[in-house]
Amino acid sequence: MIDDYDERRTYCRMLGHYLSFAYCRSLKQGLPCHKVLDCWFEHFPVEDFIREHYSDAQRELFLAPPKDKMTSLFELIERAKKHST
Ligand code: SF4
Repeated sequence: MIDDYDERRTYCRMLGHYLSFAYCRSLKQGLPCHKVLDCWFEHFPVEDFIREHYSDAQRELFLAPPKDKMTSLFELIERAKKHST
């Protein structure tokens, strides 16, 4: 079941405190954090878990590293330019 590991806890280096897998697997619009494989591989077979519960398209979406602020800003500017012409 998708909630089998929800009670497991680890230290999050991104947020600076302990949290549960329940949080990590529902971070981005109900999808896992992009660091989920790095943070949980020592705790349980997280790769199998991810393969079992998420489609290829979903995995591609949440495992992609987040865009840096400059890239996001550039994309926003480009989008605004397109809408204003
Ligand atoms: S998966 Fe993300 S939210 Fe969870 S511990 Fe790792 S960095 Fe923190």
